[in-house]
Amino acid sequence: MSLIIAENISKTYITGEVEIEALKSVGFEIEPASFVSFIGPSGSGKTTLLNLIGCLDKPSSGSLNVAGTDVFRLDRRAAAAFRGNNLGFIFQDFNLMPVLTVYENVEYPLLMVQNIPSAERKKRIMDLLEAVEMTDQKDKYPDQISGGQKQRVAIARALVTNPQLVLADEPTANLDHKTAYMVIDIMKKMKEDLGTTFIFSTHDEKIVGEVEIIYTLEDGQLTGRNEKGGVKDA
Ligand code: ADP
Ligand code: MG
Repeated sequence: MSLIIAENISKTYITGEVEIEALKSVGFEIEPASFVSFIGPSGSGKTTLLNLIGCLDKPSSGSLNVAGTDVFRLDRRAAAAFRGNNLGFIFQDFNLMPVLTVYENVEYPLLMVQNIPSAERKKRIMDLLEAVEMTDQKDKYPDQISGGQKQRVAIARALVTNPQLVLADEPTANLDHKTAYMVIDIMKKMKEDLGTTFIFSTHDEKIVGEVEIIYTLEDGQLTGRNEKGGVKDA
């Protein structure tokens, strides 16, 4: 069964007298354990779409099923619970909390999820910090580490609740070439190891070269779907 089924999603922003059709009848399906990217120029609707999939906003029309849940029907409280249990987020500017250490940043989403014993909590955090090679930095604050290190912490934070789906909006935009590849490699490994689906928005060729399916957005419309016919890592 598909992890995501999107049908006829439209989103119009109304600011004052101006209406902007950010998404126009967009539809697609994404399978579990996929590595997918939406690409398109600035303003094409990528962030709008990721925000809808992430239950952070509601569409003007259309339907969206994520992991068996009709997410556009969730009220605010139910959407927050759904996010906490099913989704992880990675952002262009990392969005770490400056007053929390690396360890505490990764721990943070777990504090929202009930019923995880503290030993299990600690093990999950330490395992993920090891996976992103940040164990030795765990007591540092975000302003004491580099951009690439911050994004590795953000990956650990996104995965600590074992989400089925991680949404990553331009995750490599603020990283240099080498660091971007390292971050993409970590996400790919997480996908292989854990079966997590990653959905990116990007115009970064490095990500485009690594994903399995590329959806193209142009001016709010889905204009292309390219699948790399079963090509996997050598
Ligand atoms: P992308 O992420 O591909 O750059 P966005 O989804 O951010 O595209 O934006 C799509 C269109 O919607 C753009 O024309 C943008 O200006 C507009 N838009 C995005 N967010 C808002 C908003 N909160 N209010 C009004 N217009 C918006
Ligand atoms: Mg954007």
